[in-house]
Amino acid sequence: MARPKKERIVYQPPLYADFKPQGVQARGLSCISLELDEFEAIRLADYNEMDHAEAANEMGISRSTFTRLIEQARKKIAQFVVEGRLLHIGGGNIHFHGNVIRCKTCGHMFNIQFDDDFTICPACGSGDLIDLAGGFGHGRCCREYNQDNRR
Ligand SMILES: [Zn+2]
Ligand SMILES: [Zn+2]
Repeated sequence: MARPKKERIVYQPPLYADFKPQGVQARGLSCISLELDEFEAIRLADYNEMDHAEAANEMGISRSTFTRLIEQARKKIAQFVVEGRLLHIGGGNIHFHGNVIRCKTCGHMFNIQFDDDFTICPACGSGDLIDLAGGFGHGRCCREYNQDNRR
């Protein structure tokens, strides 16, 4: 039996999952799916300008896997801007290291660990909060993953 692929670590959920060119209807545009591990490769290497070996280590993957991952990711983002398509971020064999909460009332975003309890926005006191990891179908699985893989 094939060994299941090991989960890749994504530091925290992306702030937005869906992107669309302005001035055209979404209907009729085909969607590009950027997986969460591909997003993380772009964030680490291109946005944070991290060395590829270091970025691979952050994600818990080999350097050659990282190279393949970022090449795929760049290709998809290039198609998105050149062809004007929809881009959706989601999926991938990953768990988040930490979570981000967005306040629906004031827009404030704050980082939490999966062990932390959160009930109100530290900026405005509202209880109307969005759990970004939850929006990507993660949460409890990441908490368990982090507990099993404490670094
Ligand atoms: Zn708030
Ligand atoms: Zn998870």
